Amino acid sequence: MTLIEKESPTRSAAVATMQAAVVHSFGEPLSLETKPIPTPGAAEIVVEIESCGLCHTDIHAAHGDWPVKPSPPFTPGHEGVGIVTALGDGVTEVAVGDRVALPWLGYACGTCEYCVSGWETLCPEQQMMGYTMDGGFAQYAKAYGRYVVKVPDGIDPVEASPLTCAGVTTYKAVKVAGTRSSDLVAVFGVGGLGHLAVQYAAIAGGRVIAVDIHDEKLELARELGAEFTVNALEEDPVTAIQKLGGADQAIATAVSPRAVEQAYGSLRRHGTLVFVGLPADNYVRLPIFETVLNGITVVGSIVGTRLDLREVFELHAAGKTRVILEERPLAEVNEAIADVDAGRVPARIVLRP
Ligand code: NAD
Ligand code: ZN
Ligand code: ZN
Repeated sequence: MTLIEKESPTRSAAVATMQAAVVHSFGEPLSLETKPIPTPGAAEIVVEIESCGLCHTDIHAAHGDWPVKPSPPFTPGHEGVGIVTALGDGVTEVAVGDRVALPWLGYACGTCEYCVSGWETLCPEQQMMGYTMDGGFAQYAKAYGRYVVKVPDGIDPVEASPLTCAGVTTYKAVKVAGTRSSDLVAVFGVGGLGHLAVQYAAIAGGRVIAVDIHDEKLELARELGAEFTVNALEEDPVTAIQKLGGADQAIATAVSPRAVEQAYGSLRRHGTLVFVGLPADNYVRLPIFETVLNGITVVGSIVGTRLDLREVFELHAAGKTRVILEERPLAEVNEAIADVDAGRVPARIVLRP
């Protein structure tokens, strides 16, 4: 795939412009374009992006994979990290010069039953960065002052990017799984999300089994604290994990319905399967009888709250987590997407405008 390069960025006195990667049509390469730098409305801020991770969700967005689709043209990216350059009326949460993260949850109403009960990620009024709002694959992005999260000093801004979605999502998934010390936790998929899931499961006290289809990813999982690994192309993960007694929790991040079914099959009685990955093929087959008789819980987990992200940053600042990434220029976004699809990536690619 090649990038359609239009003009280079300028900041003339007349109209300040920036470069942004834009999806015009599902399945087509993104095009790098010159656009006006956004100006903030009431409650909004503008952020000069330093880095933005490439989440598999951005690929689903660009392909129109999911039942609820974004409306092209749009700019993906929901792991944007950068410096606040402008404030709209009424913004009190951040100041110009602050370093902030722009997560998936771009806006929530703040007053519905979900927002007021700690479940803002379920707000029916929500807007999503890089999906319903233009995201971080650009030199600047607009966000709501109330829904960005400050990046603490002492955290490398580039490392903050993968934490902003992959980190908070898997941190929350481990909370939802209910992992406690000595639980056996199976993590299916050791990509951007999975490499952090392995670490959060271990922090919660779990003994981790990592499952992937690439040996390099399994080696990485072992370096990050996995006690057991299974290459699902060489060995049946259900048999392998049942031999260990079965998983108390399975966290499914792989972009594959088959892996989700294997995650289910790997559980022990009273186990919990957490759906995290969102493959284009939206359905799995799970048995009712065994779910009832074995007291299995199946639960979906969607990103995390602003508080979850603060906790993720706190753990990272304290040296408890490692972020594995490779930096690439934003102009190489299409090649980066091809490499993620082919599994040729050490956990996460972070794009720099
Ligand atoms: P990724 O491409 O970085 O990682 C996917 C990993 O799964 C890769 O390591 C791949 O080798 C592995 N894999 C593929 N097939 C497998 C199989 N059959 N068995 C085991 N492993 C297999 O993707 P990512 O950025 O980590 O995102 C993963 C999924 O999570 C995507 O569908 C994404 O949209 C979704 N997601 C969900 C949430 C949420 O809130 N629930 C948030 C972010 C991303
Ligand atoms: Zn994401
Ligand atoms: Zn709400």
